[in-house]
Parts: sequence; structure tokens; C-alpha cells
Amino acid sequence: MLQRVATHLLCTPPGGEVRRLDAAAPVTKRSRMPLFDGPPPWYVPGSPLPRASRIAVLAPHPDDFDVIGITLRLFQRASATITLGVLTSGASGVEDAFEADPEAKRRVREREQEASCAFFGLPPDQLHFLRLAEDPSGHLDACEANRERVASFLSSCAPEFVFLPHGDDPNLAHQRTFAMVAGALARQDARATMWLNRDPKTLAMREDVYVLFDAEAAEWKRTLLRHHTSQQARNLRTRGHGFDERILRGNAETARSAGHPGAFAEAFELRAPRS
Ligand SMILES: [Zn+2]
Repeated sequence: MLQRVATHLLCTPPGGEVRRLDAAAPVTKRSRMPLFDGPPPWYVPGSPLPRASRIAVLAPHPDDFDVIGITLRLFQRASATITLGVLTSGASGVEDAFEADPEAKRRVREREQEASCAFFGLPPDQLHFLRLAEDPSGHLDACEANRERVASFLSSCAPEFVFLPHGDDPNLAHQRTFAMVAGALARQDARATMWLNRDPKTLAMREDVYVLFDAEAAEWKRTLLRHHTSQQARNLRTRGHGFDERILRGNAETARSAGHPGAFAEAFELRAPRS
């Protein structure tokens, strides 16, 4: 598996679209990674959280950090330094009824992320808005300048773990973020392990790690998510339930399918560094 992952990364055109993610790659004995004991999947807190002193979170949009807020809170409580890079403004996710001015949309989403990070307890100097170029449809542009900025951000963080949404997702920003991060780590010969999280739109992924949490923690996460007021409003209007409910329903379904009905879980596929 380690060999297959390395081959996959080498075959991914630099910054290009991800054509195949090996999402259903079988977990074999060779795929055993040293972060956890025993065979996957691993359940936290049953399995101890791996130690890390430096973590980078690459969020294609404001709010992607919050989707994995429980896991990140565990790492922060374990004294990891978390550095968040928000790649795009996410302005296209703000409805005109909420805010019509394009520049104001960008500010709205950044203020929401600042507020959620303050609630989380992330020091302000560990939150970075990269404001990368967007294509005409408002998605993260797959240009060389963006690739270089992602690479330099990762290089400056020197993380042991990198968190980002799984790339097997119809959202172009999620696909392109994965391609940029995987390409940069490969070119830098970095030792970082990627933690690819399940998002509501993820199509297929291997679930190596489940971070389980209870109803009390879910209420904390609900408060965290509700800082994204524009997304709460959009989800309420288009889906009939809020952004908080959308994420927590997914976490409940993930836990149920993992054999823990009544609980909640954030799920991750691990990608080991090149060997
Ligand atoms: Zn996103």
C-alpha cells in the first residue's frame, strides 16, 4: 500500500486533476502505519491519539476547519500547534439574499472563520487567509501561482500531519486542494501524513480512523459550526435544516455505519508519506 500510494502520488500530474484516488484500495499488511497499534480501522478514543507537535489544516473554504473540529480540538488539547490555511474566500457560497456585494461576501466568510476560530481557541496568528486565485466560476483555480503558495505554506508549517478534505468529491476546490497538497508534499519529499476527512459530499473513501464523540461534544461542535452564519442561512433555505445539522447528521451516520449507533464520528483516510 505504501508503494501504491507513492506510485499514485507520482502519477498525479503536478497540480492536475485527480483522476483516480485509489479510494477503495484494500488495506493490506504492508499498509500498516505506525501511528496506531493493530489493524485498521482505529477508533479514537479507544486507540490513543497519535502524538504530533505541528499540524497544518488546508481548508479549501472557510468552514472546512470546523467540519473536523472535534478531532482538531483533541490534538490541540494534546499540545499540538495547529496552523490553519484557508485557501479561498468561499464568496460563491454566500447567497445574494444574505449579502449581494462580492467583496462583502469575502469579508463575511472571513469574519465567520475568525469568530469560529476564536470560539475554538485557535490563536489568531495561527489562522491564515491565503486568498488564492479563483476561476470564473468562483472555484479555486488550478494555476501555478496557487500551487506555489500552497507549497510554501506547507513548507513554512513543516507539519507532521496535514488535514484536508478527501479529494474524491465533486467540489472542484476540494479536488484541487488535494492535488496541490499531495503534489507539494511529494515534491518536498515531506514526511507528513495526510488525514483526508469525510465531507458531506465525499463520494468514496477508505475510513481508517474514526474519532468518536458524544452528544455533549456534539453540542460544542454545533456552536462552532453556527459561527458560519451565511452557511447556516443557505442550508436552512435550500435544505430545510442548518449547516450544523447537516454536518452532525453526517457524523451520526458515520458512527452508526461504523458500529457505534447513537454516537457521532469524524472519519479519516490516512495517506502515509512517501517511503
Ligand atoms: Zn469546502
